[in-house]
Amino acid sequence: MKIPFLDLSRMDQSLQTDLKNKFANVLEEGRFSFGEEVLTFEKRVGDRLKSPHAISCANGTDALELALRALNIGPGDEVIVPAMTWVSTAEVVLMVGATPVFWDTDAWGLLRSDWEKAISPRTKAIITVHLYGKMVPMADLMAKAKKANISVLEDAAQAFGSFQDGKAAGTWGDVGCLSFYPTKNLGALGEAGMCLTNQKGLADQIRLLSNHGQPQRDVHSLVGRNSRIDTLQAALLNVLLDRFDEFQEKRRMLAEIYWKELAGIGGLSLPPKAKDSNHHLFVIQTEKRDSLKEFLQSNGIGTAIHYPTIVPDIPVYQQKGDFVNARELGQKGLSLPLNPWLEVKEVMEVCGLVKEFFG
Ligand SMILES: *Cc1c(COP(=O)(O)O)cnc(C)c1O
Repeated sequence: MKIPFLDLSRMDQSLQTDLKNKFANVLEEGRFSFGEEVLTFEKRVGDRLKSPHAISCANGTDALELALRALNIGPGDEVIVPAMTWVSTAEVVLMVGATPVFWDTDAWGLLRSDWEKAISPRTKAIITVHLYGKMVPMADLMAKAKKANISVLEDAAQAFGSFQDGKAAGTWGDVGCLSFYPTKNLGALGEAGMCLTNQKGLADQIRLLSNHGQPQRDVHSLVGRNSRIDTLQAALLNVLLDRFDEFQEKRRMLAEIYWKELAGIGGLSLPPKAKDSNHHLFVIQTEKRDSLKEFLQSNGIGTAIHYPTIVPDIPVYQQKGDFVNARELGQKGLSLPLNPWLEVKEVMEVCGLVKEFFG
């Protein structure tokens, strides 16, 4: 691939050197679980996003599952989930023994605003997903959830660095869940995740659940599990966080090029501009998605589809319902390359080929 969708081996030399040096430090220290790097990482993310409690864990899926468990959601409970999302959002609901109730999204993948119609006497929570880095209108969602007396979880796995009305993704609901999977905007060199909350009781519960219910060595106050972050990943994330603002600026600048260069092409819809989004994915929509993908591929351009099959259409998640918008996005959406390791001229080349395709 001449221009890959995402190639993490393109990280710049200075970043690679800093990461190698950090690895050498951690190796020299000989501390591979908990420790200063973990505390520092939690403090830095909490401060940056203005979240009083930031609890790191093994990955973003665990963050969601720990949050559901901390909220005591389990068998007999229903949780409202958007039909278009990465499977984790629904998977965790089933993993705790509860039932996901899928609801359609708008044309660009955000939960449709009439989701309160999915509320039943068994509904305990809603997991809202800030898909592609764009935030669901949160003031409205929070007001509806409060009225219905249900908990709000934010799946902010794709939205680290997104804000709405000055408030960070993941800090609106009862618990916000982050992923530091390598392809996310802040990606580790492996797996990591985090829960954010402003409720001390929930924070304590999540911390206990993620470490064998162990408030101190050899005391187990509840039955938990192991979902700790690796010290090494926390240390590397501290290095990556130093450069985060610069990477965000690069993403924003490249996204602006797409918006400018691809404007006004018949048969092609560009994503709406969202203020203070982290530009995680640049998803365009066209009826000719598959042939455009093939055309770009044959010209050495990598693209991706997020996601071709909506979750309620996956056999193991099978659920009937009105998911027209989500399904259409799954058929028409195409993610163009957008990451800090791309050059302006590469994005221009992608734009040139897209224009050529549409003639
Ligand atoms: C990446 C992602 C997750 C899961 O994160 P992992 O760290 O890979 O477990 C959950 N939800 C969404 C929307 C994601 O994109």
